[in-house]
Amino acid sequence: MPSAPKWLFDTVDMFLSKLPRVEVVDTVYLSKSIKKIRFQGDFDNLSFPVGAFMDFRVSDTEARRYTVSYVDIENEILEFIVHLHGQGVGCMYMDNLKVGDIINLNKPRGERNYYDKTKKKVVLFGDETSLGLACSFHRVLKKNGHQFQFYFEMDNENKDICSLLGLQNCTIFPKDGNFRDQGWVSHLPIITSAEWQDAYFVLTGNVNAAKTFKKVIKQQTNGKVYLHGYWLEGKKGL
Ligand SMILES: Cc1cc2nc3c(=O)[nH]c(=O)nc-3n(C[C@H](O)[C@H](O)[C@H](O)COP(=O)(O)OP(=O)(O)OC[C@H]3O[C@@H](n4cnc5c(N)ncnc54)[C@H](O)[C@@H]3O)c2cc1C
Repeated sequence: MPSAPKWLFDTVDMFLSKLPRVEVVDTVYLSKSIKKIRFQGDFDNLSFPVGAFMDFRVSDTEARRYTVSYVDIENEILEFIVHLHGQGVGCMYMDNLKVGDIINLNKPRGERNYYDKTKKKVVLFGDETSLGLACSFHRVLKKNGHQFQFYFEMDNENKDICSLLGLQNCTIFPKDGNFRDQGWVSHLPIITSAEWQDAYFVLTGNVNAAKTFKKVIKQQTNGKVYLHGYWLEGKKGL
């Protein structure tokens, strides 16, 4: 529910138990448009599966989703990586968060099937909005010995973000619309290579790019697909 009348959000907030005192303790701009935000709080007894996301109430009438990129329950740390893409209420809220701010946070929500330990080869596709998810996946993919590739379409200013985040096996493509072109996608090495024919593809980021990628995967490989679009042109929240 990205948008709702204030009274409705207020009523839901009254019934949903909130996390006690969550404070911004660090923020860093990894580029002009990528901000990493660290919160401190008591996250005991909460479940954070790979790709867990949280709904932030970013105004009286709007809520937006962001993925937990890192959690350390013992040291009470929770991190998010946000794309400051423009003037959306979500990105302005995130841009304005500063050290010392205290926020009301809902409990995390998880995607039950995001990570599948039986899938030996994993390809994650997305854009700047998928960096948190990639960080969340990266740790578990390395720990459990998967073969993996991250494919990102990114603005030029973000082409070095993967190394700043310590993400391995990243291929960065310019965000120039190519991922909306089935013909172009069908020639990607990850599609044409015999080695990745039976990979598990997690497709996120822009809905239209992810859907185009899915069509090609279905037509040309034996891969399994998990698609979760994170944003769509002209649509507020998702
Ligand atoms: C499960 C889930 C997890 C997500 N995790 C993250 C995350 O970890 N980090 C993160 O940054 N985002 C994440 N997103 C995406 C984020 O919720 C959307 O980008 C959201 O629309 C941002 O809200 P906004 O208020 O800034 O813009 P909105 O008010 O929703 O949209 C305003 C306009 O901006 C456009 N827009 C929205 N997002 C983008 C974008 N990234 N680039 C260009 N144009 C855009 C919309 O199409 C619309 O036209 C996630 C989304 C989902 C569903």
